[in-house]
Amino acid sequence: MADKGKLYVISAPSGGGKTTLIQNVLQRFNNLAYSVSHTTRTPRKNEQQGVDYFFISQKEFKEKIKHNLLLEWAKVHENYYGTSRDFIITSLDKGKSLILDVDVQGARQIMESAIESGMNIVSIFIMPPSIKALAQRLEHRGTDSKKVIEMRLKNAKTEIDKKNMYQHVVINDDLDHAKEDLCKIFEETLNKAMV
Ligand code: ADP
Ligand code: 5GP
Repeated sequence: MADKGKLYVISAPSGGGKTTLIQNVLQRFNNLAYSVSHTTRTPRKNEQQGVDYFFISQKEFKEKIKHNLLLEWAKVHENYYGTSRDFIITSLDKGKSLILDVDVQGARQIMESAIESGMNIVSIFIMPPSIKALAQRLEHRGTDSKKVIEMRLKNAKTEIDKKNMYQHVVINDDLDHAKEDLCKIFEETLNKAMV
């Protein structure tokens, strides 16, 4: 029987560079997939249904909660986000490792449930060099309104306060350095038994 896959739980404040860094990791490692989350957020202009997220209504999201279909879920920046339980369990059982991009509330839920379910977790927090840099990156990305950016920056401070609950913290100042630091964590842990 194949060894179970590992669950890479990655969080960062909005604009911290999760998406950019995760895409780089996915290009560099095999036997690793991205867990596409469900959200009630409106898609951004470059986002695709089923690729970036499963974009669903609040009613559909509540149905998933009711039927216990989500491994974790949270309200983040006024929208709901959640991870499909079935996809995670099936993939890990087949020996496939997964990357989850979740907020600090979701990460906590997964860390707590891992103790009972015996899931192998590697948790990583991606840190921006400063709130000022974060603000510039969000503005430069150009995907969110001024109001949404303000809310995300306000929430960033409380999210950064939780960084010590993660096993690894990667600072995303110089992008190439951050890519190397993150890939090193995967090189050291992917396909290796946890000690
Ligand atoms: P997140 O997924 O965490 O919200 P993104 O990956 O979308 O963050 O990054 C936010 C923006 O910042 C993007 O436009 C991205 O190209 C840019 N970015 C990411 N990392 C860096 C970096 N180290 N230096 C400068 N810009 C960056
Ligand atoms: P965004 O709207 O920028 O794509 O994501 C906003 C926040 O939601 C980020 O902190 C991201 O990590 C988080 N997020 C994305 N998917 C999930 C999920 O399935 N569960 C939880 N709890 N948070 C998620």
